[in-house]
Amino acid sequence: MLVLMGPPGVGKGTQAARLEAALGLPQVSTGALLRAARRDGSALGVEAAKFMDAGNLVPDEVVVALISRRLAESDAQAGAILDGFPRTVSQAESLDSMLKAKNRSVDRALLLTVDETAVIDRILGRRTCMQCNSVFHIRSKPPRVAGTCDACGSELISRKDDNEEAIRTRLATYRASTEPVVGFYRSHGVLREVDGGQTVDKVFEGLQGALNH
Ligand code: AMP
Repeated sequence: MLVLMGPPGVGKGTQAARLEAALGLPQVSTGALLRAARRDGSALGVEAAKFMDAGNLVPDEVVVALISRRLAESDAQAGAILDGFPRTVSQAESLDSMLKAKNRSVDRALLLTVDETAVIDRILGRRTCMQCNSVFHIRSKPPRVAGTCDACGSELISRKDDNEEAIRTRLATYRASTEPVVGFYRSHGVLREVDGGQTVDKVFEGLQGALNH
């Protein structure tokens, strides 16, 4: 099992999609699962929405239940690339117990690092496809047709939580709740760091290298 970590806007989603293609393991993004639950109007999605829009974390038990169901699906039996999970030490511990029950473990936690001013610009310019989860940027990776996803033709939107106030809350939440997870994986000897400020190709090369060391 692979865990992709880093602050919001560092490029986890973009890199997870590339790793999915390269490794043949599914990308599992709790943010995307929560947004899909919300679009479907499920009780879980409606409950999660108020946390998400303010840039706060959805309660651990909600996210753990969601990921546990997802990892039980057939395509995740050989492993998965976790994008945006775990975000708290309690989630990391739940993941460990979930995997232990199947005689598995987290093989690598890959941490993407970047400075904060860069992530704010990345997030404000980000446009996301709600249908297939592809991510674009108005300047650095514009879609071929403005407002339309290159991959599936659906509409691209600026996520509700991609505004400056919510971004600042998400960065503060990352420092307070998610950075301790970095220490958790470091102490387990599975953490590797890659500079997320490089080009998409260079970051991807760095991640591939980190998988083998
Ligand atoms: P993301 O798409 O990873 O940026 O996630 C968007 C939002 O979904 C976050 O700001 C949280 O509100 C929620 N979320 C996603 N993953 C988690 C998680 N592992 N734990 C708690 N909340 C999460």
